[in-house]
Amino acid sequence: MKLSQTFAKTTKTAPADEMSESAKLLIRAGYIYKEMAGVYDYLPLGMRTLDNIMQVIREEMDAIGGQELKMTALQPRDAWEASGRWSDDVMDVWFKTKLNAGGELGLGCTHEEPLTRLMKSYISSYKDLPVYAYQFQTKFRNELRAKSGIMRTREFMMKDLYSFSKNREEHEAFYEKCAESYKKIFNRLGIGNDTFRTFASGGAFSKYSDEFQTLCEVGEDIIYLDREKGIAVNEEVYNDEVLADLGLDKSKLEQCKAAEVGNIFTLGYRFTDALDLCYNDENGQRQKVFMGSYGIGPSRVMGVIAEKLSDDKGLVWPEEIAPYKYYVVAIGDKAAEIAEDLHNKAPEQIILDDRKNARNGEKFADADLLGIPYRIVISDKTLAEDKVEIKKRTESETKLLPLSDFIAKLVQK
Ligand code: ATP
Ligand code: MG
Repeated sequence: MKLSQTFAKTTKTAPADEMSESAKLLIRAGYIYKEMAGVYDYLPLGMRTLDNIMQVIREEMDAIGGQELKMTALQPRDAWEASGRWSDDVMDVWFKTKLNAGGELGLGCTHEEPLTRLMKSYISSYKDLPVYAYQFQTKFRNELRAKSGIMRTREFMMKDLYSFSKNREEHEAFYEKCAESYKKIFNRLGIGNDTFRTFASGGAFSKYSDEFQTLCEVGEDIIYLDREKGIAVNEEVYNDEVLADLGLDKSKLEQCKAAEVGNIFTLGYRFTDALDLCYNDENGQRQKVFMGSYGIGPSRVMGVIAEKLSDDKGLVWPEEIAPYKYYVVAIGDKAAEIAEDLHNKAPEQIILDDRKNARNGEKFADADLLGIPYRIVISDKTLAEDKVEIKKRTESETKLLPLSDFIAKLVQK
């Protein structure tokens, strides 16, 4: 990517109504654009970052047997009436509209009903089970309060996986596998050390659900954390009885603010009953399918990472999700030519700051603001030794690296 040709410019200021540091930085760095409260566009850099986060999640979901699909955002009324969730009194976040041809539809806020109904066409025998189906999809929720930039919005990206199992036992084995997979995901995303499996309210089919909560001052949840054990309890279920049940000692718990980045939930027969999703077992007996749901909010995760890892100079992205790995600044004509060549070799890895109207100081400041993992400076001085200068975003020290070594890095990727 060449900055001289990029429409999304960095700015010195952010909208006055943005309270969170992450939103201010993401807007200033040209990652997102605010349409209105709780509604944001993802600009080229923001889209690449979100895509990288989604790719990490995709790899881990595939590794535990997830099959990716993509459902529609337009939701017909009848599937939701079957479960009793069409009513605004039951589901208060619906965005609904009318069809010109007659009838009503809603914009998907979650997908249990339509997916359960879809599976009726494909699941009929024990041989068809289990099924783990997931998607990345835009969800629409008429949230009363949008908050903290992309951390709580009215349109957002969700990874939602749904499990369809023969029985509770099979369900529970997958549930634990997915919880382990979530740990891997948050480690890869750079927030693993501060993300804790948290007991929260369950439902008719299990005592608890599991949330994945990341310690964060602008988070909306309060959790009670046992650091030694690495688990927490959400305020909503925090009481003496629950602590005893979980074997937690009140005096060891820390009260913390946190943001829910993911959650997993035992749905049991809630939706398979409502939509009549059954299978025939080995003995030809009709049985109900047992379900679970497993969400992660990639756009909220992006906000949480921006919030937690950034510093006073700007964003800081872990290498695996940064939109580009290197930010290249050339000083001098010969250096500019070489920089151009390097960019052409690896346009997917390099942001080339080839702006004619920007001073070097501004370029360095933008390298930091954008949070690109490595800054590379090529000058006639470094070239005299056949070297480039390299600096990690999180360090202040610069090092000289042979140009050929840098080229080798680009080639091996
Ligand atoms: P919350 O408790 O924060 O309202 P939720 O319990 O309703 O979220 P789910 O419906 O299970 O969340 O959604 C799965 C994930 O999607 C959440 O863990 C969160 O990461 C993300 N998410 C939920 N609501 C939003 C939102 N309004 N904006 C951005 N991400 C969201
Ligand atoms: Mg929740």
